[in-house]
Amino acid sequence: MASSTSSADDALARLKTGHEEFVKLVDEAREIRSFDRLAQANARPPMASVLTCSDSRVAPEIIFNQDLGDIYVVRQAGNVVTMSERASLEFAAAVFKCPLIVVMGHSQCRAVQSAIDAGLGKTFPGDIQELASLIAPAVAHAKETSGDRLENVTLQNVRMSVQQLLRSEVLSSLVDAGTLKIVGAYYSVESGKIRFL
Ligand SMILES: [Zn+2]
Repeated sequence: MASSTSSADDALARLKTGHEEFVKLVDEAREIRSFDRLAQANARPPMASVLTCSDSRVAPEIIFNQDLGDIYVVRQAGNVVTMSERASLEFAAAVFKCPLIVVMGHSQCRAVQSAIDAGLGKTFPGDIQELASLIAPAVAHAKETSGDRLENVTLQNVRMSVQQLLRSEVLSSLVDAGTLKIVGAYYSVESGKIRFL
């Protein structure tokens, strides 16, 4: 217990130090360049929305090398779509006029693996079981495909999340009008590269 408390304290200290460094960078940016870009980040629409996993290795701003204000990010273990994710993305598309949604799964996804394991009878505490059940249709669908099981289920889960978003009247009408595009993507943690589907 003591060690986990000290790990948490260490982590909080690192976040505070990191944020102080970030504030210094912002101050330097103000002096050197693009000050307006950061200051006015909220005044313009983000160029893209990204729905991806909460996995700590999959931070969209870093992977796509974009600044504050560029990407509207929705993160959820296993990048599944429930009401709150759909509403968040409707908000970006309809209110902010953000023209692109990328649904991005990734390799080594523990949330997708838990859904595969749940299909084999493993049980998980709390709402993790419910999360696994949201990914279960992708597990069932990918049963027929050959090759890497985790990758196949992850790809199918991305496709299903795209389909779930298209069930939103708000989003599908924007897609039909040609003002919104929704694409799937797969990020390889091993290579650092993204494959668009
Ligand atoms: Zn994941």
